[in-house]
Amino acid sequence: MDDQQRARELLPCPFCGYAMAEEDGAYQNDGFVAPQTPVWLVTCPDSDCNASVSGTSKESAMAAWNRRAALRAAPEARPLDECHEDHGPGVWWAWDSERSAWMGEPAWIGAPGDSDWPGYHTHWTPHPAMPAAARPQGVK
Ligand SMILES: [Zn+2]
Repeated sequence: MDDQQRARELLPCPFCGYAMAEEDGAYQNDGFVAPQTPVWLVTCPDSDCNASVSGTSKESAMAAWNRRAALRAAPEARPLDECHEDHGPGVWWAWDSERSAWMGEPAWIGAPGDSDWPGYHTHWTPHPAMPAAARPQGVK
């Protein structure tokens, strides 16, 4: 996939899951800003959602959409044998192959060498990023 293909393809809406089509690509918004300032928008077509990102070009708006969508998307669970201690701490999941479903219990977070790892997990995903900020304790 080259850069032009990547720019045309939009990931599903990160908020409502709407499957974006090629015709849902960025469009130029000239209603709110001076004509010298191009603003390109990608907006979710679902009228209950209307999630939107902007950019100074069609490509930058679409790239911003895909960046946000990728961040919000659930990571793909990888088989345990693909995990290596160099990956650092991960989130560990247990897949029930007879039911073809997750076991439904909370995930376990840790590193492969941890002595308290329960040992029955089948898959892992990278540890999520730290939150951007935290409200001080006691402040509501
Ligand atoms: Zn949406």
